[in-house]
Amino acid sequence: MKLSKPILELWETDPNIVKFMLAHEIGHAIHGDNNKQIRKDNSVSKWVKNGVIFLSEMRANIEGSSSLNFPSLEMDRIQRILHNENNRLFKESLSTRLPIKLGWMKNIEYSYDDNSNEHLKYLFRRGYPTRKMISVYTDKYKLFDAQVKNDLLDTFYEIIKEEVQTDKDTFKDEVISTFSKYYNG
Ligand SMILES: [Zn+2]
Repeated sequence: MKLSKPILELWETDPNIVKFMLAHEIGHAIHGDNNKQIRKDNSVSKWVKNGVIFLSEMRANIEGSSSLNFPSLEMDRIQRILHNENNRLFKESLSTRLPIKLGWMKNIEYSYDDNSNEHLKYLFRRGYPTRKMISVYTDKYKLFDAQVKNDLLDTFYEIIKEEVQTDKDTFKDEVISTFSKYYNG
């Protein structure tokens, strides 16, 4: 991810944010996560791809954070800051796009505590969890096992069920087998 402030400056003012970001990236690196391969596979449906990428993001969050062992309040503080940072960067990127200037597109901004279907769907469509979810799940789970995958995919399916053609069990099975094929999970 990108940050507005240089990493070194952040390291001095708020090192735990940098520690979390590094732990997340190490979580990806350990498994060799790479979205290019799955993106190219036309036999995998769009929503299965999003579900698989969502799992890989949450694995990086859970496995990365478990080594940091931050208290849950500290993790929540870090995710709040990153949520606001993501919003700010999003707005900056929008201000350079003509349709936004002309008012054709809505400038979407959700609050950290907003657990509405609209907010979740907005992120799930990109294969991302909300920052609030990262805080909650890293507190609840220290290992990325079958139980956490099941829990995450239940939440995921509930939000996107109207847009997929398959029933819940079929969807979850397909995501889990594709995840293990492309992400060593
Ligand atoms: Zn990531």
